Amino acid sequence: MGKLSTNTLVCQHAFCRGFYAHKEINSSCGIPAVAGHDVFTSLLSISYVSENALKWTPRTEYIKRIIFAHLIKKESMKLEALLLARCENKCELCKSGEDIQIYEVLPQQNGDAEDCIMLCNVCRTQVEKKAELNSGHWYCLSESMWSEVPGVQVVAWRMLNRLRNESWAADNLDMIYLDDETLAWAKATGDHENDATVELHKDCNGQLLQSGDTVVLIKSLDVKGSTLNAKMGTVVKNIRIVEDNTEQIEGKIEGQTIVILTRYVRKQGI
Ligand SMILES: [Zn+2]
Repeated sequence: MGKLSTNTLVCQHAFCRGFYAHKEINSSCGIPAVAGHDVFTSLLSISYVSENALKWTPRTEYIKRIIFAHLIKKESMKLEALLLARCENKCELCKSGEDIQIYEVLPQQNGDAEDCIMLCNVCRTQVEKKAELNSGHWYCLSESMWSEVPGVQVVAWRMLNRLRNESWAADNLDMIYLDDETLAWAKATGDHENDATVELHKDCNGQLLQSGDTVVLIKSLDVKGSTLNAKMGTVVKNIRIVEDNTEQIEGKIEGQTIVILTRYVRKQGI
């Protein structure tokens, strides 16, 4: 048994070292009794966690949380490894090797690797409508639409539909083949009914605003029924964009969350 560290953020116990849940739960390991470690270690050595096994310890809830966090982490690592092997470390739409991450194709069908594809940052931000569509980037679809991965077919079909006003995209849409099940999946989000225009939140200078940004008020705001001091120049940190209205964001001023019009704010540089 390793020795528990009480002063550092990371437990020095051999089994737990570096395990991320520690930092979230407690500044030390959080299982002060070595017995807790025994339970933890033995439970992790079996392939599933039975409720009875968990009743062993008075710290049931706590241990359960750690174990499930660990199992979930293991599962998602497995998923990522599967996907990276499938895509050969390249974006499954444009073949770029830059900043590849998992993209869940909604609505999820089985909750496994078939429901996910690997996308680079350029593809992902445009697919998720967080960046303007750059049609030149999407010529890549004429190849990736022939992928055997249904999730790739679905996203390719949705993107071609959003770009259908361009003749090359319309031509590809005539050629692409999706079986009935995949086509139903592709249509499920209604994404294909949208066009290339992307509604984005922009500040007074046309700069893109995203949740988490810091903005400065360019005008003193009169908040009705409140004595809130929202003067010009007030810095509002960690804003949240209002999803269905590109003219509005939410932000906290003096501890109160208020809706602010995007045209009255300027994004603050990092
Ligand atoms: Zn890409």
